[in-house]
Amino acid sequence: MKDLILVDFDDTLVDTGPRFQNARRSLLALMRDAGFADDGAYDMLYNQVDPGMRQKYGLGPRRMEPLFVATYERLCDVHGVARDDDIAARCAELGRGVYGPPPAFEGALEALRRLTSHLPTVVYTQSGDVQYQLECVRGAGIIDIVREDRIHVLDRKDAEVFMMTLRTYGVRDPAHAWMVGNSMRSDINPALEAGANAILVETPDPWEYDMVDPISDHFHRVPTFPHAVDLLLS
Ligand SMILES: [Mg+2]
Repeated sequence: MKDLILVDFDDTLVDTGPRFQNARRSLLALMRDAGFADDGAYDMLYNQVDPGMRQKYGLGPRRMEPLFVATYERLCDVHGVARDDDIAARCAELGRGVYGPPPAFEGALEALRRLTSHLPTVVYTQSGDVQYQLECVRGAGIIDIVREDRIHVLDRKDAEVFMMTLRTYGVRDPAHAWMVGNSMRSDINPALEAGANAILVETPDPWEYDMVDPISDHFHRVPTFPHAVDLLLS
């Protein structure tokens, strides 16, 4: 039984991650040029500053500019170095570079069209900035395939929100729902916790934050979204 298919957006249908990853790598290179050791800058960015920024701004590009600037400023503070306005401006620029609708993966939109013509489908995505995320979903061409009331943008994705989403779309039994996404943390584990089925679309260059252990082995792994659709329609 497949009552509802929930499809993640970023790095499942569209190629978002490389821009974020490349921006982070550029920031770390800039920090190295500014004289900060790699491991210290990495720790400051990922472990010291980003958790607070995720809380304040949610996941998404809006946090990247303040995150990058704060990483630089805190490194300066910790090492007793004077802040350089030009470097701070470069940090801000790198953070702003991740804005705009990301490109769809090859074959992803055709596969989504195939899926929606056979099974009830919802695009289920998270962002700290709902309006921005809707613009990205529209900009990526999803709106021509999935009706606007079937695009569900939330500020977080966990088991509780997953269950609420199922109720919103009239699904009584989670065992009849399927989650397709690239994130173990945000897509697969919440679905498994809620008692739903899950298909992990494996990303070649995953974000460290997403790399958590699965809570069980009862899910599928596929290399791309079209493969997930093949599995769902087989
Ligand atoms: Mg994703």
